[in-house]
Amino acid sequence: MNDITHFFSNLFKAENWPPRWHCGIWTEFHGWLYIISDVLIALAYFTIPFLLVHFILRKKNVPFPKIFWLFGTFILACGTTHLIDALIFWVPIYRVSAIVRLLTALASWGTIYALYRILPDAFSLKTPAELEAVVQERTSELHKSVKKIRFLADAMPQIVWTARPDGSRDYFNLPTTIFSGKTLEQLLEWKWVDLIHPDDRDEYLHKWNESLNNGEDFEMEKRLLGADGKYYWHLSRAHAQRDENANIIMWVGTATDIEMQKRANELLEKQVNERTEELRKANIKLANSNDDLENFAAIASHDLQAPLRTITNYLGLIHKTVVKTEDGITIDFITRTIDAASRMSSLINNLLIYARSSTAGLKKEPVDLEEIVELVKENIHELLTEKQGQVKTSGKLPVINADKLQMVQLFQNLIVNGIKYNDKTPLITVSTDENENGYIISVSDNGKGIESQYLSKIFEVFTRLHSDIKGTGLGLSIAQKIIQHHNGKIWVESEINVGTTFFIMLPK
Ligand code: ADP
Repeated sequence: MNDITHFFSNLFKAENWPPRWHCGIWTEFHGWLYIISDVLIALAYFTIPFLLVHFILRKKNVPFPKIFWLFGTFILACGTTHLIDALIFWVPIYRVSAIVRLLTALASWGTIYALYRILPDAFSLKTPAELEAVVQERTSELHKSVKKIRFLADAMPQIVWTARPDGSRDYFNLPTTIFSGKTLEQLLEWKWVDLIHPDDRDEYLHKWNESLNNGEDFEMEKRLLGADGKYYWHLSRAHAQRDENANIIMWVGTATDIEMQKRANELLEKQVNERTEELRKANIKLANSNDDLENFAAIASHDLQAPLRTITNYLGLIHKTVVKTEDGITIDFITRTIDAASRMSSLINNLLIYARSSTAGLKKEPVDLEEIVELVKENIHELLTEKQGQVKTSGKLPVINADKLQMVQLFQNLIVNGIKYNDKTPLITVSTDENENGYIISVSDNGKGIESQYLSKIFEVFTRLHSDIKGTGLGLSIAQKIIQHHNGKIWVESEINVGTTFFIMLPK
């Protein structure tokens, strides 16, 4: 223990030994050969660690970098031993020399241990030749899969291409060259643009540039020049392939022939246009003949009224004269003739109303339906008294925007029907309901009712279900026409011997 303490407390002392020059017999040559060699070895050993450190700092991903550091330390220590050996010729610092040697020994064993640890891994490292072989194998696999993909692309009926991120094409499949009659060299880079129809080219390039800038999918229909010099419609699509950082690495695109589809569409469009035009003309013709018919009905019924009034008046006079002089049969004939004339008169009247109830001349204004029902009651006062009928309203009827005269006509027709086609004491109820579409007004009676199979037929002109009761078969047709002109709807529900309800829907 004393030795150790003595050793370390006198570590740098050199008095106990003579300098090496005086130890034994050295010739000048032998001594300097020793010294210079040691110094050269030391310099070399000091340089090697620097080179090693420089190497691992510059070269990224060097396997086992720690071992380089250890080697560096070990060689540095070796160099120091040699330097001290040279120094000892003048300064015999044998204790320092012993410590440096110990450090060198530790560094060398540390390096050996580390080497031993990494040896299995180091064995698995590939030599450049082995690496080259792996690269070649992978390259050939890659070639095989590229070949496979190209074979697939060539077998497809579409044009298939790939492009670099800047949009220039670097591949076209076989169908492209067959379709266009061009070689790959005549299409690659940006030469394919010549195939696009001049009218579609600007739009295509504009859209393609947009996709290149924003990376979004591309889609457009355009015409491509075929080998026969004709243009064919194609649907072009392109999709960007990205790496793990979402950077575009290439574009993959197709162009599908849609010529047949386009032609079929054009043909269909042409046919639809022709048919629409035919329909338009037919509609105009129909509208014209409808107008003509309505005008004719209006004029005819108007002009028929005057002579009919004369006939009715004279028949009245004849009836008065004949009652005094003639026999019962003649009176009966004349009475029937008067009846027929009166029926004819109301028929002509209704025809006139029907013909006139068109949109032309429709005067819309706020109309209070309460008031309309009151007006109708006044108009049919006689009939109500005769049949002891009653018309009442349930709830407050609304004020609507409508043609007043037509509203009177509409409600009068419905109310009169409820009284006419009724075996009981007629009770007519007018009520209203409201929803988001508009008002629903109902006119219900307690009359004979209508069999369900006739419910839709009764709105047709001249449809009559009760021939024993006077009528013209025009009242409901007029009602329906009025409702249509007010953009509404009319429908009916009925039960035999219980009653009938007409519903009218009018928009607000
Ligand atoms: P008209 O009453 O002049 O015959 P309409 O067009 O008003 O003509 O009615 C057509 C037919 O529908 C009538 O002949 C009648 O048979 C039937 N009808 C109409 N309203 C009612 C009703 N409220 N109850 C029962 N039957 C009706």
